Amino acid sequence: AKAQGRNTLCFFDPAMQAAASARSALEGDIRQGLQRDEFLLHYQPVVNAAGDVLGAEALVRWMHPQRGMVSPGEFIPLAEQTGLILPLGRRVMRLACAQLAQWAAMPHTAGWSVAVNVSAQEFRHPHFVQQVLDTLRESGASPRRLKLELTESLMLHDVEDSILKMQALRTLGVGFSLDDFGTGYSSLGYLKRLPLDQLKIDQSFVRDVLTDPNDAAIACTIITLASSLGLDVVAEGVETEGQRAFLLRNGCQQFQGYLFGRPGVVDLLSNM
Ligand code: C2E
Ligand code: CA
Ligand code: CA
Ligand code: CA
Repeated sequence: AKAQGRNTLCFFDPAMQAAASARSALEGDIRQGLQRDEFLLHYQPVVNAAGDVLGAEALVRWMHPQRGMVSPGEFIPLAEQTGLILPLGRRVMRLACAQLAQWAAMPHTAGWSVAVNVSAQEFRHPHFVQQVLDTLRESGASPRRLKLELTESLMLHDVEDSILKMQALRTLGVGFSLDDFGTGYSSLGYLKRLPLDQLKIDQSFVRDVLTDPNDAAIACTIITLASSLGLDVVAEGVETEGQRAFLLRNGCQQFQGYLFGRPGVVDLLSNM
C-alpha cells in the first residue's frame, strides 16, 4: 500500500501532508537523538510475594531537547517502521547491561535481573544473537541476569528461527519472557515448543481483574497454564492491593506495577 501511494497519482489532503511531514521530522529527530545520546532507561521493579525486588524491567525514555521526556509509545512505532529500532535497540541493550554490571557490584542489588523489551525487527536480524553476546561481554554483565521480553506475534513469524535463537542465548543463561500474554495470536501448540522461562499477564487483564469475571478467568487460566508448563508468571500493571491479593491467592508469585514502583531512574529504585 505504501509503494502504491508513491507511484500513483492521488490527491493529498492537507491533514495527510501535515501528518507525513510530522513523521519525517520525528524520524530525523530520532536519528539526531541517537547521535546526541538522548535516550535513557527507566527501571520498574519486579517483586515477589514477600515484596522483595527480584529485578527490574528497562523501559526506554527519550530526553528530547524541546519536548522533554517522551514515552516509547510516541517513538517506538516509527522507529520500528524506519529501521531506527536497530541502533536504538542496541543502545538500550548496552545501557541495560551496563546497569546490570553495576547492580552485580553492589551487595543489596547483586541478585537483580534486568528485563529488556525486544522488537520483532531486532529479534529477526541475523546478527541479533551475536550482538547480545558482544554487549554482555563488553559490559561484564552476567547472561544469567538478563531476560529478554518478546511478544507472541514476533516469534510466530518464523518459529524455527526463533527457537534456534532462543536456544543459542539460553545455553548461556539468558532468560525469555513472553510479554503481553493473551493479547496476541496465542497458539498453545507453539507455546509448548518455545523455550520460554516466563509469561507476563498483560495489564489489560489485570486492570479489571476484581470486577470483570472474564478478565479474572483469563488471568487465572494464564497462571494455571504457566504453572503446568513449568514457567514463571508475572502480573503487570498491578496498581492496587486488591489486585495483588487476588492474583497471589490464585497462584501468581511475581508482580510489577505502580503499587510497587513506577518506572524511574535507578537511584530511586536501589533505595527500595
Ligand atoms: P510493556 O513492555 O508492556 O511495558 C509496560 C508498560 O506499562 C510501560 O509503559 C510501563 O510504564 C507501564 N506500566 C507499568 N506499571 C503500570 C501500572 O501499574 N499501570 C499502568 N497503567 N501502566 C503501567 P511504557 O514505559 O510507556 O512502555 C510502553 C511500551 O513501549 C512497552 O510496553 C514496550 O512494549 C515498549 N517499550 C518500552 N521500552 C522499550 C524498549 O527499550 N525497546 C522496545 N522495543 N520497546 C520498548
Ligand atoms: Ca515488556
Ligand atoms: Ca507488557
Ligand atoms: Ca504492552
